[in-house]
Amino acid sequence: MEEAQFLEKNQPIVFTQLQKSFEHGRLAHAYLFEGESGTGKHEASIWLAKHLFCSNLQNNQPCNQCNNCQRIERSEHLDVQSIEPEGQTIKVDQIRKLQSEFSRSGFETKQKVFIIKDADKMNSSAANSLLKFLEEPVGQFLAILETDSVGRILPTIQSRCQILHFQPLSKELLQTKLMENGLGQQTAKLLSSLTNSFAKAVEISQNEWFNEARDSVQQWFNYLKEADPQAFIYVQKKLVKVFKEKSLQFESFSMLLFYYQSQLAEKTATGTVNEIAETNRVIELILQAEQKLRANVSFQSTAEQLAVRIIYK
Ligand SMILES: [Zn+2]
Repeated sequence: MEEAQFLEKNQPIVFTQLQKSFEHGRLAHAYLFEGESGTGKHEASIWLAKHLFCSNLQNNQPCNQCNNCQRIERSEHLDVQSIEPEGQTIKVDQIRKLQSEFSRSGFETKQKVFIIKDADKMNSSAANSLLKFLEEPVGQFLAILETDSVGRILPTIQSRCQILHFQPLSKELLQTKLMENGLGQQTAKLLSSLTNSFAKAVEISQNEWFNEARDSVQQWFNYLKEADPQAFIYVQKKLVKVFKEKSLQFESFSMLLFYYQSQLAEKTATGTVNEIAETNRVIELILQAEQKLRANVSFQSTAEQLAVRIIYK
């Protein structure tokens, strides 16, 4: 996988900063990569490791071909160790094992890299053990901690690291990644309109409620689109049951908005001026409905009123 291309496109700030540090020989001893899952934190870790060990840099980028690059790619390089939670947490034994492996002789080079995925999952003894290691490093090493929640990392560890923030994914990339993860295009599109976190989107997609909600809003959209009076009855018959919780009620309008925005894109390409104007009118009504819900008008009456306004112009 071409980490450099991914980072240059999606994390240009981080990419430039690390590349410059590398070129000037000013890499920090410890980095804390902070950002949501899917934003390229681990790609950046691998890229840095390859940078350090590649025996054939091309334009100051890892070649991805040499023995070192290949072994890092396959997680087989002895001087590049990666740990992640076993179960719910990273335990002190995992950190100790890492330390003892690094202090043993007979390794390939002097330089070593260790990567801690989900570093916020270290329990307190693991965190303290790591802290000691960062304070009194054995040999020459680069530590990279990856986390989606920097607030859960001990401040004393944070202060030993250079913190780099990874930007949220663009909607397009999130959608692509979700499709690579096996989701249909329409669902991937819908999810990327609801959140910009990959982990969150995957979590939502695995939720049974989400699938029922999506199907019922799609049915509602079909009634509304056809100006079918069932759209009104459907609110009480179905939607109020699916969208019981207040926090979820907003999702119903977000999803409906999604269907109309897709329709707008389609009409803008092939529809008439009237069709475009009508779609815009409905989008405006949905946004108003969201505001009403925010002002604590009940979900049922907001949704019923919305249906009436969409159907009877
Ligand atoms: Zn290489």
